[in-house]
Amino acid sequence: MFNKLWGKYKGKKNTMQIFYDFFSKKTAFFMLPCKILHLFFIFISKNHTFAILYINNMQIFTEFINLIYPKTCVACNDLLNKDEKFICLKCLYHLPKTNFHTQPDNVVEQRFWGKVPIVRATAFFRFQKGSPFQQLLHHLKYKGEKEMGQVLGEYFATDLMSSCFATVDVIVPVPLHRNKLKKRGYNQSEWIAKGIAAKWQKPLDCDTLFRAIENPTQTKKGIFERWENVEGIFEIKNREAFNGKHVLLIDDVLTTGATIVACATAILKCENVSLSVATLAMA
Ligand SMILES: [Zn+2]
Repeated sequence: MFNKLWGKYKGKKNTMQIFYDFFSKKTAFFMLPCKILHLFFIFISKNHTFAILYINNMQIFTEFINLIYPKTCVACNDLLNKDEKFICLKCLYHLPKTNFHTQPDNVVEQRFWGKVPIVRATAFFRFQKGSPFQQLLHHLKYKGEKEMGQVLGEYFATDLMSSCFATVDVIVPVPLHRNKLKKRGYNQSEWIAKGIAAKWQKPLDCDTLFRAIENPTQTKKGIFERWENVEGIFEIKNREAFNGKHVLLIDDVLTTGATIVACATAILKCENVSLSVATLAMA
């Protein structure tokens, strides 16, 4: 394992960087054997109560699991530090953020012009096909990493904190049909919305807007088919829930905007409602 890890780093040019990265990220690999040895000495000293306290304190089990299955960054595959979740700080720094929340009439908002009245719209970051950041969406949607949606939602919410997005009344994720929810086990947009709602301490509503018709997946459809595929498939359970409110609709990826428009059409049937949109990514 040591050779494997070292091999990953030796290709890098800067020697100082090699040592810095290697020793800062791999401290656990050196510390664990020391801790196990320490524990052994405590046990042979027959002070078992102290040994148990010691085990609890150093979370030996978690560290052991991390040693066998090290957690890696979803985007670059590098090993994660103890404080990093799903994505390393380096990738987070290089995330191609749009900052559209600071630009009224941005290209996301323009996608809805002439279709549905949207107050503001934004996307957290852009991705290109095959880019490491596409992996974030792939893991979120298909690899069961739902908690990553919440983590990214919190980062997104932090960026939007001082914008008008943070003044909405309720946060609503684009729903999945109940059959799809059963199959996948979770709604990725709901987890993103959960992170945003938690950061802003705002209500999250995952019940009022629902997918009444199960439509085939959008991913393999052309532009025109995507619009046809989602028309009229969303409905509102209780119209009074959104009356007079500013709703923030959350989705994972914005492509043509057809799904958002279909949701907006249903939401805007409520009285005196206004709608903004925030998606995690845009293609
Ligand atoms: Zn990374």
